[in-house]
Amino acid sequence: MSQAIAFIGLGNMGGPMAANLARAGHAVKAFDLSGAACQAARDSGVEVAASVNDALKGAAIVISMLPASKHVESLYLGATGVLEQLEAGALVIDCSTIAPASAQKVAQAAREKGIRMIDAPVSGGTAGASAGTLTFIVGGPIESLELARPALQAMGKNIFHMGDAGAGQVAKLCNNMALAVIMGVTAEAISLGAAHGLDPKVLSQMMAVSTGRSWATEVCNPWPGVLDNAPASRGYSGGFGNDLMLKDLGLAVEAAIGSGATIPLGELARNLYAMNRNQGRGGLDFSSVVKLFLVE
Ligand code: NAD
Repeated sequence: MSQAIAFIGLGNMGGPMAANLARAGHAVKAFDLSGAACQAARDSGVEVAASVNDALKGAAIVISMLPASKHVESLYLGATGVLEQLEAGALVIDCSTIAPASAQKVAQAAREKGIRMIDAPVSGGTAGASAGTLTFIVGGPIESLELARPALQAMGKNIFHMGDAGAGQVAKLCNNMALAVIMGVTAEAISLGAAHGLDPKVLSQMMAVSTGRSWATEVCNPWPGVLDNAPASRGYSGGFGNDLMLKDLGLAVEAAIGSGATIPLGELARNLYAMNRNQGRGGLDFSSVVKLFLVE
């Protein structure tokens, strides 16, 4: 089923997601503030609009993939925001990773105008965005998710409904906080072994079939040379950026403060990735956190 879709935010994730929607036959009109991002989208077969309002003309669905809460709130809210331009009954799908409270605020404003909204942050990174294999982690009414499903299926493989508005964002933060802690302790463990003369590759192979196994030992091993395809083996380039992980951990800490939940390991992890950034590795893959533990 083809639906007219306005797609806002054509960065590392949004660009390939919009291209997959267009390839699946949806009528996509996209926009980004960056001229370079617009050109890359054009080159991948996506029709690019002259402005947000131009992209919205005739659209039944709006999808956004923006950096952070403030960008999403400023796109949708206010007198000139997208919610003011849309007809009642339209569907908004925000795929950005933002604060759960911010997602709830926009969803509430949408509801007041008769506009449906789901938060649908993703897991799978830029590789998943290009391959169309993202996991969508959804919050909002199930009926709205059903309306969104054909578009989501053009961009991803797995869809999880986590609950009401904001629940997708909470679940996304839970996953990434666990990943951050597991990566941090795996980096510590391999560094401890190396400091005692163990071969990090053999140590990792042992851990990968033992109880310390995880995505961090088997897929994104932080030690250079252990796995040929891991970011660690190409100078920590091209993975999930340290600064994006730091942003997600900051959102997890904020969410914990808001709810009274205690996340001692998550808070510690936030500091580890902040230290890694402060040592100049903010733009590298987050597994570069291992450099904090090297014994010279
Ligand atoms: P990005 O910075 O590459 O892209 C964001 C784009 O939004 C930019 O091109 C920017 O110009 C555009 N933009 C900002 N404000 C705009 C506006 N008002 N109108 C139009 N365009 C606007 O970021 P990304 O890596 O694509 O990430 C997007 C979101 O996805 C973030 O919330 C991130 O946390 C999340 N995410 C990223 C990854 C990843 O691996 N990169 C993985 C999962 C989730």
